[in-house]
Amino acid sequence: MAGDWVLGIESTAHTFSFGLVDGDGKPRPSASDTIRPTEGGIHPREAAEHHVELSTTLFNKILSENDLSPADIGVVSYSQGPGMGACLRTGAAAARAISTHLDIPLIGVNHCVAHIEIGREQCGCDDPILLYVSGGNTQVIARLEGRYRVLGETLDIGIGNMLDKFARKHGIPFPGGPVIEKKALKWLEANPNPTLEGLELPYAVHGMDLAFSGLMSAANKLVSQGVPFEAVCWSLQEHAFAACIEVAERALAHTGKTEILLGGGVACNQRLRDMSSIMCEERGASSHCPPRMYCIDNGTMIARLGWLEIKHGRTTSLVQSGIDQEMRTDQSPISWP
Ligand code: AMP
Ligand code: MG
Repeated sequence: MAGDWVLGIESTAHTFSFGLVDGDGKPRPSASDTIRPTEGGIHPREAAEHHVELSTTLFNKILSENDLSPADIGVVSYSQGPGMGACLRTGAAAARAISTHLDIPLIGVNHCVAHIEIGREQCGCDDPILLYVSGGNTQVIARLEGRYRVLGETLDIGIGNMLDKFARKHGIPFPGGPVIEKKALKWLEANPNPTLEGLELPYAVHGMDLAFSGLMSAANKLVSQGVPFEAVCWSLQEHAFAACIEVAERALAHTGKTEILLGGGVACNQRLRDMSSIMCEERGASSHCPPRMYCIDNGTMIARLGWLEIKHGRTTSLVQSGIDQEMRTDQSPISWP
């Protein structure tokens, strides 16, 4: 007889990750590996090859780290979308193989919704506005009438993508976001009372939406004009994060909700976390950030959402198990409280 652990497989982009929740939905840290190209961005086919090569190793690792055998797994959950097609297909194939081999149910889940649900579980918040800031996605999301609705989003590239591309142009390999954070901090240490004078960049807010490519071009221009790179990193963070926080604040005002939940890899950034806390304090709301290992892409969040979906009666048949690169956040019905 199969056990009651739920295995989650994440493969939307650069990271291949296996995670677990137990029969009560309690998360365990994931076993993950991220492709880090020495030059250029993430190539979908190269990332997919990376995932395929690591699938057996990561599967064995997550089992041995938790003293489990395959027979302890009762459900296998995987990211069905959105993401890079070639990468998504590797996770879906692994999930189908495990499900068929162990004769256990399969459940394909929405990656963006998984970021929300692991955040809710970790932070204990109830009905938050999610500020989802990752490599490929930047969205402000709220639960309204049985769906997570996108209230605002980037009109061009994701904020993490923007940080990574800016970094890459100046010789910093993927992921650039954490390095930009360090450079900005270093500049701040040398300039404890910074002003934006000489460091102004375009503001990325368009109504409830955002746009980052103009901001990135303007930041590149400042560097080419001889402005110190660390100063530009600081200004780029200030502009990009303030724009996200402004839209999140407006979402609080429109919906009457009182919690902000950060999610996605860029939510690892301390300055963004601080800005969110300051904004929430000023308007009597609360700001919540999951531990960093659950902000970046991870299999555990996929397991957690799979656990929720199965508990509320949904499974995915082999026929329905194809991936959906363009899957939208508001496409997935939310049947749990
Ligand atoms: P995800 O797509 O959610 O896995 O997140 C990956 C993105 O998060 C990449 O674009 C990274 O550059 C970005 N990222 C990770 N850590 C940080 C950080 N400390 N500050 C800014 N961006 C970060
Ligand atoms: Mg993500």
